[in-house]
Amino acid sequence: MKVGAIIAAAGSGRRMKSDRPKQLLALNGTAIIVHTIRKFDACRAIDYIIVTAPRESLDEVSQLVNSAGFKKSIVVVEGGERRQDSVSMGLKHLQPGTEIIAVHDGVRPFVPVEDIENVVREAERSGAAILAVPIVETVKQAEKDLVQSTLTREHLVFAQTPQVFRTEILKDAFEQAAKDEYYGTDESSLVERLGHPIAIVRGSERNIKITRPTDLTLARAFLEEEMGK
Ligand code: C5P
Repeated sequence: MKVGAIIAAAGSGRRMKSDRPKQLLALNGTAIIVHTIRKFDACRAIDYIIVTAPRESLDEVSQLVNSAGFKKSIVVVEGGERRQDSVSMGLKHLQPGTEIIAVHDGVRPFVPVEDIENVVREAERSGAAILAVPIVETVKQAEKDLVQSTLTREHLVFAQTPQVFRTEILKDAFEQAAKDEYYGTDESSLVERLGHPIAIVRGSERNIKITRPTDLTLARAFLEEEMGK
């Protein structure tokens, strides 16, 4: 099946307390987004890649992509105001005949190539699949500074990306969300609203989302390990 990947990298990085978007920060001399694209370039389940970038960084991201020497077709397109808007912009650039779409956060450079392949294969079978890991913490529902209740950990997982769908399912989900003015923080939440079952594929604890300054410390350690392999 023809599989396209949309890598969302159009965020501004406010939580990183940096004036640079976090996906453009360098890890060991290479921008985080380049590390992320490398995983998809190396994955045989992926045919081509669409990267969304902030308008003001379009040239910079295009140059990074051009000089990285990737094997696959990679286009860089402008993102939108929210993550969902960025993915929606990416969807406009699908190649004809794309049957499966994998959506990934540009700030998750440590996703194992094998996990990308596993979740794509599951979506090819069942139509919709996401990577997720079990929760080890106890999670509370809270209202301001007061605990309201404790959620049952056995029924909770951390959703990761890639989240992978048959093209028509994802497009339907985006259309319905736009009609309802619903904004979710991942693609799965839009597809859930359609009532379509979504398979969970066990991911890796290494697939962290680089969001806050402390994540960079962990990211440097992971990268060192990967380089030492
Ligand atoms: O903001 P959040 O942490 O959910 O961002 C997850 C990913 O979505 C990041 O890689 C970020 O660059 C991307 N994003 C985007 N367009 C936005 C906001 C976030 O592509 N408007």
